[in-house]
Amino acid sequence: MMATANPAQSDSTAATSTCSIKTVGVIGAGQMGNGIAQVMAHLGAFNVILQDIERAQLDKAKASIDKSLGKFVEKATLSADDKSAAMERLDFQTDLQALSQADVVIEAIVENETIKQQVFQKLDSLLPPHAIMASNTSSISITRLATATHRPEQVIGMHFMNPVPLMKLVEIIRGAQTSDTTYQTILALGNRLGKTCVCSQDYPGFIANRILMPMLNEAMFAVYEGVGSPQDIDTVMKLGMNHPMGPLTLADFIGLDTCLSILNVLHEGFGDPKYRPCPLLVQKVNAGYLGRKAGKGFFTYDV
Ligand code: NAD
Repeated sequence: MMATANPAQSDSTAATSTCSIKTVGVIGAGQMGNGIAQVMAHLGAFNVILQDIERAQLDKAKASIDKSLGKFVEKATLSADDKSAAMERLDFQTDLQALSQADVVIEAIVENETIKQQVFQKLDSLLPPHAIMASNTSSISITRLATATHRPEQVIGMHFMNPVPLMKLVEIIRGAQTSDTTYQTILALGNRLGKTCVCSQDYPGFIANRILMPMLNEAMFAVYEGVGSPQDIDTVMKLGMNHPMGPLTLADFIGLDTCLSILNVLHEGFGDPKYRPCPLLVQKVNAGYLGRKAGKGFFTYDV
């Protein structure tokens, strides 16, 4: 679906245009949260507060953003002064209360509905009334996350792709009660970041993961059933189908815990056995082999 407003949707939200956004909060400083904070700070228009419960994750995120912005300086697409200014616009906090003045918050914590709902409930009581709450969830119902708040019309999905600074797409997900104003504000924000935005309705896995995850799961079943080695399966998809990355490398890159959570949402949400997670994926997650971020998944990595 093209990214246009749904005229049927009622609109009771207090107007929040991107011009009036002064502070953006990002919750969760993992792979996605640090990328989202980076692109927000790089834009140069807002103060950005990155919050995580783990100080070590914030320290890692700061180093990672510094390194990533440094690559833009090397390529001469960002000046050293602008890089320093972007770093200065970033604030790294462990206390959620630090977001109390944020105009827009993007939640990018672990893909777990209960934990996300707890965060949305807390945010609802501390954010200003006009603030929008967006989730970077890969699959969880925006409509259900919104029920944790008293402002469901200001809750929306803003699903960035990994790695955020390089990937052009943002999938915007309208919950059943998301207002036009909220949608238009988040669409305008995505466009200002230079992203191409598409709109998805709020069904399990939205567009991206409803299509991607069954393919990754099938590649895992092919390993599990001994059809081919992980290397050979990835080679077939890269050289035979012209995919830039093999499905097992991509699954490791996304995080196998995240892949499993998304497949569980698809499986439960549609009640269709075609989405059942591969037992090998379940076993790897149980063993802590979560992919690139853990140093081991279908392949091994230096961490
Ligand atoms: P990650 O495991 O790298 O990071 C999750 C972070 O959340 C960790 O730093 C953790 O400390 C933090 N956290 C956990 N509970 C918290 C809480 N209550 N308050 C604050 N911080 C908390 O995960 P990720 O890959 O960055 O994924 C984050 C979200 O983005 C998930 O919803 C995932 O589905 C989605 N997503 C992931 C990808 C991907 O390729 N990995 C792509 C698009 C969307």
